[in-house]
Amino acid sequence: MRLIFLGPPGAGKGTQAKLLTERYAIPQLSTGDMLRSAVAQGSEVGKRAKAVMDAGQLVSDEIVNEIVSDRIDAPDCAKGFILDGYPRTVPQAIALDRMLDQKGMRLDAVIELKVDEGALVRRMENRVAETVAAGGNVRSDDNPEAFRRRLEEYRAKTAPLSAHYAGTGRLKTVDGMADVETVSAEIEKILA
Ligand code: AMP
Repeated sequence: MRLIFLGPPGAGKGTQAKLLTERYAIPQLSTGDMLRSAVAQGSEVGKRAKAVMDAGQLVSDEIVNEIVSDRIDAPDCAKGFILDGYPRTVPQAIALDRMLDQKGMRLDAVIELKVDEGALVRRMENRVAETVAAGGNVRSDDNPEAFRRRLEEYRAKTAPLSAHYAGTGRLKTVDGMADVETVSAEIEKILA
């Protein structure tokens, strides 16, 4: 099972991807998580990505394409994977198509979570409050200013991906405003 989740920041892609990893025993590949781990390790990629991420802007296609290409070659991806937060630009989607083709793989579905943008800021604020209450570390890009920038980046660069995938008949849209269980059940229906 090879899946892509699309949707703005805070739409619930990560939450739904996590639920599917348990059900299908395949990994969730979040480019955001991979980049944050590169930043934490202080690697070359991490150093290049940190300031861009903190400003809520997108890291270069070249960097993320390479990270994903290497990651999907790992043995735990043999049965499939769920891409969360990648591709995020049309050139990334084209690079992914080419990459999968070269590896003899194909996508099973592209699932888009549709949400009301007004609710997203509240979701981000709740996520921060829950993380703080649980004693966790708040993401350095989870603040209103960087979040607004991430939404702008989404509208300008990522939203056009829906048309890219709709054109190939692979796009499935789910109402991401419903509660987690309902969204998950809708996704199950699509994958069944
Ligand atoms: P996320 O955890 O998906 O919200 O990603 C956090 C940040 O990592 C984004 O705001 C970007 O700066 C960077 N990032 C994650 N995935 C990508 C991607 N596919 N392309 C470019 N930048 C990305």
